[in-house]
Amino acid sequence: MPEAANIWSATVLSLFPEMFPGPLGFSLAGKALEMGLWRLETVDIRSFARDKHRSVDAPPAGGGPGMVLRPDVLAAAVDDVRGREARPRPLIYLSPRGAPLGQRRVQTLRDGPGVVLICGRFEGVDERLLATREIEEVSLGDFILSGGEIAALALMDAVVRLLPGVAGSPLSLQEESFSKGLLEYPQYTKPADWEGMAVPPVLLSGNHAEIRRWRKAQAEEITRRVRPDLWRRYVVEDQGE
Ligand code: SAH
Repeated sequence: MPEAANIWSATVLSLFPEMFPGPLGFSLAGKALEMGLWRLETVDIRSFARDKHRSVDAPPAGGGPGMVLRPDVLAAAVDDVRGREARPRPLIYLSPRGAPLGQRRVQTLRDGPGVVLICGRFEGVDERLLATREIEEVSLGDFILSGGEIAALALMDAVVRLLPGVAGSPLSLQEESFSKGLLEYPQYTKPADWEGMAVPPVLLSGNHAEIRRWRKAQAEEITRRVRPDLWRRYVVEDQGE
């Protein structure tokens, strides 16, 4: 068990703190949370509202549809979290404008002390918050969610499963898609024959060198076919490492 000060800790700022831990309360992440292998704190953005209506948002300056989260309220929440931190953690706003989240960033986040995540809602946050608080923007992909909460859950799930002691078998983490710049080879299990299709005989041969070769060839073939972008990078950067 890691020392208390070294436990990977996530703080999530949201208008809907009840959404957490949500799915992360189950299975591997849930068990790990219960065991104290990682920590999750939620901060209700609304508790930092100061006016008599406890408002957190306002119409966009210049007009247009929807509402924008106020920078003063969000900054108060962010500064409060920052002031209580033993070690500064990356401050991330989940945003469709951010750098798309990839396995490499997930790994570097795993290697750090944790994260502070800001979940937007409505039309997003006032730009001045992003300009003044050293915020990194991270996207889940080129589509629009209705709020940052599901993106925050996805990011934490991706990190937590890489923490020591969380995954059943650390070896499976080395083999999986993206870990070596390739998609994973196809998997098979019992029964050996199913609907007229047999498990590839090499996998039942017991010859581990052959199996390794077959899997690498399959991983390369699949990556080349379905993700030419990853394949190009693999050929240029990763091969021979
Ligand atoms: N008007 C904004 C979208 C706001 S969606 C725009 O067009 O860019 C509301 C909130 O959902 C955002 O503030 C952000 O926190 C979250 N969100 C939406 N799509 C996301 C994505 N692809 N990745 C991460 N967060 C996202």
